[in-house]
Amino acid sequence: MRIEMLCTGNELLDGSVVDTNANWFCERAFVRGAPVARKETLPDDLPVLVEAFRQIGARADFLVVSGGMGPTTDDLTVEAAAQAAGVPLDEDAQVLVDLKRRFAERGFTFTLNNARQARVPRGGQALPNPYGTAPAITLKVGKAECFLLPGVPREFRPLCEEQVIPRLEARLAEEGAARVHKASRVLKCFGIGESMLDDKVKALPQRHPHVEFGFRTHLPENHLKLLATGSTAEEARARLEAAARDALAAVGEKVFGADRDELPEVVLRSLQTRGATLALAESCTGGLVASQLASVPGASHTLVFSAVVYQDRAKTQLLGVDPELVLREGAVSAAVTRALAQAAREKAGATFGLAVTGWAGPGGGTQKDPVGTVYVCLSDGALVVEERQRYPFERDRVRQLAAYLALDLLRRHAQGARS
Ligand code: ATP
Ligand code: MG
Repeated sequence: MRIEMLCTGNELLDGSVVDTNANWFCERAFVRGAPVARKETLPDDLPVLVEAFRQIGARADFLVVSGGMGPTTDDLTVEAAAQAAGVPLDEDAQVLVDLKRRFAERGFTFTLNNARQARVPRGGQALPNPYGTAPAITLKVGKAECFLLPGVPREFRPLCEEQVIPRLEARLAEEGAARVHKASRVLKCFGIGESMLDDKVKALPQRHPHVEFGFRTHLPENHLKLLATGSTAEEARARLEAAARDALAAVGEKVFGADRDELPEVVLRSLQTRGATLALAESCTGGLVASQLASVPGASHTLVFSAVVYQDRAKTQLLGVDPELVLREGAVSAAVTRALAQAAREKAGATFGLAVTGWAGPGGGTQKDPVGTVYVCLSDGALVVEERQRYPFERDRVRQLAAYLALDLLRRHAQGARS
């Protein structure tokens, strides 16, 4: 079954309103194993809308339309659908009665244009809308079963939930045995660019012909999405598992989690499994690492403190780093970052000390370590691991990447992998 979505409204095209209805519906269709095949956004223009309905009616089986159901002259959805279906608009007596009652109850004046909302294309059906005035409408245009819904999200969502999704599920069930079952997983990666990721998994599509591999940049992460199909749910799932295993083997430790996993939570989980605690010394990230960890419930069991040691004297006075060392090596250096990690760990009596320093920019930097250079260091007493990266981006992204790099170093170490 081919599902499409059509969002209407000049406000969606002039940048004043973000189209949240589409992503709301698309997600709900996707999790039911029936991803939306195509979605378009069109202005309030009658000929354009009529043509769109005609084309969609010729290729789709199921269509959800958002917007243009109100009483004003720019609300053209019902008229466009009727024209494309080649049917006239009839005034629905019951809808008109309901509309007038609703207006009376609220003490609103019923102007003539409000009667526009009682028009239903012949052969279609008005669906009650307890959340607003304009009814929703269902009708057939070409071969597509269409649902015309108001654009206001607080009406669109519940109407969709109550009137459209059950119908969608029924259609999917009717397709029964012929139905393609789907199973999907998002593998979340850090520290690997999109093209490198693509290169690492390039052999997999051939080995897994029933699995679609997709890439998505979700800064600072990169995601690899696997979508497996099968004639039964078990077959789809088994194909997904096999592909995910191969993808994990190909990408390796750059994968930090799947689906709803978030890096800070993954890090805390692996620390908690080991009964480990953590102390942070943050310079250029200014507390970002701590803030991300603190967003996870129960972080206080693991995170002892984070010292935001921004100026050199904070590094020396608060954490006791040797001023000579700072002077000699510079605050942004492997040696000072190591000293910070060790000092934080010792002060806290924690299992791990983790430190970040860097040149976030736009000013600063040295010839050896230009703006965007970041050092992270992790110490567990016996072992000290550090990394240097250069992120040639603007300040906020450098800081965000630095925080991620620190968390990810900790994750790889806590999970037993060494970079
Ligand atoms: P109304 O009776 O309010 O006119 P309507 O069905 O005609 O309802 P629109 O006129 O298209 O809906 O949109 C009304 C408002 O709903 C828009 O101004 C916008 O704020 C919001 N809206 C419309 N479409 C969307 C969408 N796709 N996502 C999020 N908000 C939307
Ligand atoms: Mg409107």
